[in-house]
Amino acid sequence: MKNLNNLPSFDKTIQPSWLIEFTRRLILLNQPFIQNFKAWHFQPGMRFQENDQWWRPGSSRPAPHEGVDFCCFIDKAGGLVYLQPECGIPALFKGRVAALFDDFLGRSLYIIHNNNGRQQSGVIYAHIQPTPEITVGRMIKAGEVVGVTAAQRQPGPLRPHLHLTMCRAAVNVPPPTNWQTIHRLPIELINPLSRQEDRRHKKMP
Ligand SMILES: [Zn+2]
Repeated sequence: MKNLNNLPSFDKTIQPSWLIEFTRRLILLNQPFIQNFKAWHFQPGMRFQENDQWWRPGSSRPAPHEGVDFCCFIDKAGGLVYLQPECGIPALFKGRVAALFDDFLGRSLYIIHNNNGRQQSGVIYAHIQPTPEITVGRMIKAGEVVGVTAAQRQPGPLRPHLHLTMCRAAVNVPPPTNWQTIHRLPIELINPLSRQEDRRHKKMP
């Protein structure tokens, strides 16, 4: 096991702590494809609630973005590097697989990371190909590989990427079975990059 402290000295001051850990694990998992990582790069439309289609500049999304898209980063030489298809994806926190369903690029995996008896909160990992061991009900460790980014369906600007949605709902709300139900169910979407939410996620077991 490599010493995580020797990994890239990217700017940790402006990021939620889950993202620092997630990025470290992603780099370790995907060597040598992710090298000289400096910082994530978000084009307009990649962040929470943004309206642009980043793959089609000038076009709008049908609904504000439900999460964050991880597609490319800036390397230490200042170059823009896109994630490869089949980039290994580590779980952000420990939890339990609550749902698995198709999306328009691959599959979406919903892991409930916290349940205090009244409210449940979790993460949807979208546009991935989950590993075969990932089944509903399975317990997941923090950092466990849950899948790889799905390949492009067709040549074009919509590159392979990981979409992350963070959400919370009352415990009696059923897990979503597709993206339409996410909009219909009383599920509150959270900005994954918000520092305020970061404090809450730190309390997760
Ligand atoms: Zn997205």
